[in-house]
Amino acid sequence: PVVLGIESSCDETGAGLVRDGVLLGQAVASSMDEHARFGGVVPEIAARAHVHAVAPVVTEALARAGLTLADVGAVAVTSGPGLSGALQVGVAAAKSYAFSLGVPLYGVHHLAGHVAAAGLHGGPLPNPCVVLIVSGGHTSLLLVRDLARDPITHLGDTLDDAAGECFDKVARILGLPYPGGPAIDRAARTGDRKAVRFPRPLTRAQDAPYAFSFSGLKTAAARWVEAQQTPHVPDAAAALQEAVADVLTRKAVRACTDHGITTLVVVGGVAANSRVRELAERRCASAGITLRVPPPGLCTDNGAMIAAIGDLLVRAGAEPAPAELSVDPSAPLEFAALVPLTDRR
Ligand code: ATP
Ligand code: MG
Ligand code: FE
Repeated sequence: PVVLGIESSCDETGAGLVRDGVLLGQAVASSMDEHARFGGVVPEIAARAHVHAVAPVVTEALARAGLTLADVGAVAVTSGPGLSGALQVGVAAAKSYAFSLGVPLYGVHHLAGHVAAAGLHGGPLPNPCVVLIVSGGHTSLLLVRDLARDPITHLGDTLDDAAGECFDKVARILGLPYPGGPAIDRAARTGDRKAVRFPRPLTRAQDAPYAFSFSGLKTAAARWVEAQQTPHVPDAAAALQEAVADVLTRKAVRACTDHGITTLVVVGGVAANSRVRELAERRCASAGITLRVPPPGLCTDNGAMIAAIGDLLVRAGAEPAPAELSVDPSAPLEFAALVPLTDRR
C-alpha cells in the first residue's frame, strides 16, 4: 500500500508518500522564520504553525506524487519524541486521515524515521549496520538490525549536548543567523579549518569509545571568540565544523571496524553538513566501509522519512497503533513503532 507519513515533532511540518521503499512525493513547510527572532524554536508558535500547514502539506505531497487520498493505504505519524503540542497536531491530523479513510495508523519514533530515510536511496539498509544519528537533539551510535522488528542497540550516546545543538549555540555566539548549523556550513566555505585547533572530546577515552560530548567544545569555541578582538567568523566556523566532523566520523568508523560491520549509515540534520559528509566518505573509503547517507533534503526533518518507517512496519506486518494513540515527548529510541510497552511482551 501507499503509506502517508506525517511529521510535526519540531518546527517542520512534513508529509511524504512511500510505497515498497520508493518515495513517491513529499512536501515540507517550516516555521523556522517565525522562530528566528527568538533564537530558538518557540513551542506555541510551532504548534500553531503545524495546525495551519498540515493539510496543505499533505495535499501538496499527494499532488507531487500524482496521487489522491483514495490511494493512501496506511498512515504513519511521529508520536515522539519532540515538542508535545507540536506532536499532538500531527497525531490528531494522522488519526483524522486514517479513520476517515478506514486505513491503519502507525505511531512511530522520530529518530527511527531519520534512520529509515537512508533506505529511500540505494535500496534497503543491510542487516546489521552501524548508524550514526546526529541531529538537533540527539547524537548516538546505534547498532541496527531489522529496523521494523528488532530492538535498536545503543553503542553510545552524547553525555551532554547534541552535535546540532553545538553548531546552533556557537553560531549564535558568532552572530550567525538561526538556524546555526546551515549558517556554520556556509560560513566555513571561506574559512581555514586549521586556523584554530578546537578539542576533540572523548576521542582518547578508552572506556567511552562510542560516547560523545559537545558541551566542552561549545565552551572552548566561546572562549576563543571572547579572546579575539574581531573573531574571524569563517575560520571559527571551519575549525568548529572540523572538530565536530572529526569526532563524529572517527568514532563511527571505529564502531564499524570494532563490530565487523561493513555499512555505516549517517542520518539526522547534521548529516547534511558538507564536512561531515566529506570526512565520512573519505574515512569509510579507506576502511573499506560502505557509506549510506541520505541526500541533504532527507537529513533534516521531513515527512518522507516517517512514510519510510511506516512502509517498513506495514511490510513487516506490525500491529497498528490503537485508536487512543497519544504522544510521547521523551520516547527513548528502542523500537521504531511506539506502542504501549505491554504489547511488546
Ligand atoms: P531531533 O531529530 O534530535 O529531534 P531535530 O528534529 O530538531 O532534532 P533535525 O531536523 O534532524 O533536528 O536537525 C536539525 C539540526 O541539524 C539543527 O541543529 C541544525 O543546525 C542542524 N543542521 C542542519 N543542516 C546542517 C548543516 N548543513 N550543517 C550542520 N548542521 C546542520
Ligand atoms: Mg527543524
Ligand atoms: Fe529530527
